[in-house]
Amino acid sequence: MKMKSFRGGIHPPGNKEYSEKKPIETFPLPDQVIIPLSQHLGAPCNPVVVEGELVKKGQKIGEGKGFVTAPIHASLSGKVTAIKNFPHPSGKDLPAFLIQSDGKDEWVEGLNSTENFLDLSPEEMKNKIREAGLVGMGGAAFPTMVKLSPPPEKPIDTIILNGVECEPYITADHRLMLEEPHRIIRGLKIIMQILGVSRAFIGIEANKPDAIKMITESLNHEPSVKVVKLKVKYPQGAEKHLIKAILNREVPSGGLPMDVGALVQNVGTVGAIYDAVCLGIPLIERVTTVTGAAIMEAKNLKVRIGTPVRELFQFCGGLTEEAGKVLMGGPMMGIAQHSLDIPVIKGTTGILIIPREKVEKEGFRPCIRCGKCILVCPMKLMPNTIGNFAAKELIEDAEKFHPLDCIECGSCNYVCPAKRPLVHFIRYVKAEIGAKGRKD
Ligand code: SF4
Ligand code: SF4
Repeated sequence: MKMKSFRGGIHPPGNKEYSEKKPIETFPLPDQVIIPLSQHLGAPCNPVVVEGELVKKGQKIGEGKGFVTAPIHASLSGKVTAIKNFPHPSGKDLPAFLIQSDGKDEWVEGLNSTENFLDLSPEEMKNKIREAGLVGMGGAAFPTMVKLSPPPEKPIDTIILNGVECEPYITADHRLMLEEPHRIIRGLKIIMQILGVSRAFIGIEANKPDAIKMITESLNHEPSVKVVKLKVKYPQGAEKHLIKAILNREVPSGGLPMDVGALVQNVGTVGAIYDAVCLGIPLIERVTTVTGAAIMEAKNLKVRIGTPVRELFQFCGGLTEEAGKVLMGGPMMGIAQHSLDIPVIKGTTGILIIPREKVEKEGFRPCIRCGKCILVCPMKLMPNTIGNFAAKELIEDAEKFHPLDCIECGSCNYVCPAKRPLVHFIRYVKAEIGAKGRKD
């Protein structure tokens, strides 16, 4: 049978072999954590504790105003020694809490477990999800509570769990599906209950047969949920492409999955939904993959939010050769880092270290109009044209070619023989359009 997929896309080397067979290890309690006030899309949080205050693990320490935001929590017990700017994975210095561990790792009081979530109303479950500070853990970090609150005119009829993990090197979701399938399935049942949805799919790429088997067996012939084996292609895990592949529905330009009755959640996020609703545990740790040719031993680590990346490197045995580039995320969508003092945040799927000798030093050249970027673009855009206008600062001309539809998957960059930094150009155009919109 033909496997499901979408038009366009690329086939970069997976490089999953570094870490895909490594069971999740729990990273030891760090001496201190750096917890940024901004870890999600939407309004950053404001501190609700002050410097010098003693906090417990799971205690709320930051709260945002507005609908699109997510609170943050202390990931260990100890003392807030500073609230000031620290290096952030976005590349900027942003406000964060520095918390010194007291070594006791004591939970805050009042976290309520409710194993039988059916006793709770949808609003009660959503409130627990909001209070737990949940965001999309596949990298997007969009507040989960907002996603679970579609307007009445956009009813959801299908939930898709994203177990694709198409980003090369990263294996955190793969290991979660193998090691914690029941957490994932219970989390899925919770969101089906919240949205009143009776049909769900779990999309997994064909290169993870063990995860397909484990999730299928763990479902135990559950009739409302089906596992869909997907073709191995990048970016198969992008929301719109997952919906196209599984439901054959097209999310319109500028639209959202809810416009076609679908909701997509990452498998790690639904595991955290189970923790929040049934165990009362906020989002204070996550699984992240530390990998690449320059690290002594790649690992999948369950790590406290706020743990400095430098300590993860040490735990993995250090570097075997000089690092040329450190990326938060994988090689396609990851963000290059200039400091190892950045912390793991809620959206950190992995940390990739690329050896110096593998980092391309050559600059980019003029476009040779080969059209390869157009052929692979999964959003059917013209990255070359947008890039050419962006390079000449002709933003209004670039805008006519729908740059806001770009999902920044990096496929165009990957195939371009002239090494043009197309995603960089498109991000620039998007930022200029955003700045113009704010002025108007
Ligand atoms: S233009 Fe955007 S969506 Fe299209 S290939 Fe490039 S990064 Fe991906
Ligand atoms: S792939 Fe590169 S060289 Fe080819 S058309 Fe696109 S931008 Fe130009």
